[in-house]
Amino acid sequence: MAKTLIMLKEIIDKYYQDKRDERDKEKFYVSDAGKCPRQIFFKFKKAPRKEMEPRILRIFDQGDYVHLRLMRDLFSLGIVVASEIDIPPQEDIGGRADAIVRINNELYLVDFKSINSTILQKMDAPKEEHVLQVQLYLHFFKLKKGILLYEGKDNSMLKEFLVEYDEKKAKKVLEDFNRLKINLEKDLVPRQLSDFPQNWQCQYCQFREICEIAGRDNIQWEELKKKIQEESNSESNSEGKK
Ligand code: SF4
Repeated sequence: MAKTLIMLKEIIDKYYQDKRDERDKEKFYVSDAGKCPRQIFFKFKKAPRKEMEPRILRIFDQGDYVHLRLMRDLFSLGIVVASEIDIPPQEDIGGRADAIVRINNELYLVDFKSINSTILQKMDAPKEEHVLQVQLYLHFFKLKKGILLYEGKDNSMLKEFLVEYDEKKAKKVLEDFNRLKINLEKDLVPRQLSDFPQNWQCQYCQFREICEIAGRDNIQWEELKKKIQEESNSESNSEGKK
């Protein structure tokens, strides 16, 4: 009996790993807006990274359940015009918005976010990367207003922020994606974030180790791969001497 359970855990873990690999396929996603360009570059190049435990991936997945519940509530209120809508087909960018709702005869794009409750209690403005994501959705769906609806993970507290379409912000994100596309074509690793390693993204980054090897400035991907190989050879040599 115990053996069956071990097999099931492996199957579930693999399911989460496959889901992660699917997310990493070669396209920018609306959810990449505001993210470290170097991190996105490494994802595209399938650079070596620290494995994210399936346990952590399952924690992320809890956010999906929050989304489902909030969506059910919106449907019950009869205000949903569309849900889980893919952005109009783009060559390089993919993304799926949570919902479009009608309130007092006005259309709003809605994006749900689940977040640590303590952080949510202190928040008096939405996170900038979330605003940029909504800006992109508004841009692609040609809508003027969006709502970022946050739910606290531990206390289910709700907080909402109105986001008005700002063409400049949306276009800036698209320009950033274009710049990164050029980096990818030229095989040129983007610069490190200027506040590395304090930036919160660095704290959770699976590429932190190779990012340190790369250093602050741009570097050719081929050159970095050689450095990573040298580093790994010298580590195995020193292990061998122990
Ligand atoms: S460690 Fe920080 S700067 Fe380096 S790739 Fe990750 S997020 Fe970007």
